[in-house]
Amino acid sequence: MTDYKIDTLLAHAGINSDDRTGALVSPIHLSTTYQHPEFGQSTGFDYTRTKNPTRLNLEKTLAAIEKADYALVTSSGMAALVLLFSSFPVGSQIVAARDLYGGSFRWFNEQEANGRFQFRYAHSEENLLAQITAATDYVFIETPTNPLMVEFDIEKVATVAHAHGAKLIVDNTFYSPIYQNPLPLGADVVLHSATKYLSGHNDVLAGALMTNDKDLYEKLFYDQNTTGPTLSPFDAYLLMRGLKTLALRMERSTKNAQQVADFLRQSGAVRDVYYTGKGGMVSVKLLDETRIPSILNQLKVFTFAESLGGVESLITYPATQTHADIPAEVRHSYGLTDDLLRLSIGIEDADDLIADLRQALEEEHGKI
Ligand SMILES: *Cc1c(COP(=O)(O)O)cnc(C)c1O
Repeated sequence: MTDYKIDTLLAHAGINSDDRTGALVSPIHLSTTYQHPEFGQSTGFDYTRTKNPTRLNLEKTLAAIEKADYALVTSSGMAALVLLFSSFPVGSQIVAARDLYGGSFRWFNEQEANGRFQFRYAHSEENLLAQITAATDYVFIETPTNPLMVEFDIEKVATVAHAHGAKLIVDNTFYSPIYQNPLPLGADVVLHSATKYLSGHNDVLAGALMTNDKDLYEKLFYDQNTTGPTLSPFDAYLLMRGLKTLALRMERSTKNAQQVADFLRQSGAVRDVYYTGKGGMVSVKLLDETRIPSILNQLKVFTFAESLGGVESLITYPATQTHADIPAEVRHSYGLTDDLLRLSIGIEDADDLIADLRQALEEEHGKI
């Protein structure tokens, strides 16, 4: 299976998995328990917290698309993060990029306050590499970062981390496996909020962890079975269905985002545009931040909502939404200022997206 290219792996998510009936599409196995053929025997499935056939079908595809030996799907991206970090010894020292998903930052802060882990935060790749020492146990990055869209060189960070005996974890939510496979570049663990691009339709909350480290996988599997942050069979099915079109959705989102970024760069209302050229995430800083409420109110094709990675374009105000838990002075110190809007570009027609932004940014009163 892993020899196929990603488009094939995605289109084939979960298919031909049911020898008994020949069902093409993965069945949704709702049963929480499984009949044992005889005393002392098992079909391989006992209880759904441990293992579920629908979830297993999904995990096979998730592992394959990240070029991983193992994948675990969880009930949310945060559940994946907490499951992973909970497996680390108390006292672990973690170097993380400062520009992080607000929820990850919030949980990290709480762990630090409880004396469980120590965190050091870096505002650039250079600064991150300089902070990795023999005392570092784990390095955690999102690339590109959220919402400032700074890319890290995974290979370089992995090399420095490994030279100091540390492991690298990459949150690959923004680029998805379409644009980036962190494991072959040297990362030890990949994390996803599968709620975003992997699902793609804003109707599933899910997370995933992928690794080639058998011992780590077994520990995570054990911990997940013990504590229960698993994905329901129905959500596993929906996520598999979403995965089938990931490549197409990403291609279209990227095309649209490139055009939207071009429009924004020449807009008189915009100070800076943050876009890497790949994927659907674009951030902008406005010249006049007092106009943000009226701009958000005037948009019609874009929906003012948190989250990202779906077929519908969304616009987020990180200062009060996704990153509200990061204190303002901390946010401002690394460039997440109150004039920033984050756009998740969907698969609509680019002309409609641009026209919508134009009418809102150019404040044509009365045209509403
Ligand atoms: C949304 C998000 C998370 C958290 O995932 P949930 O599925 O909402 O729990 C983590 N990392 C990034 C980059 C995200 O965008």
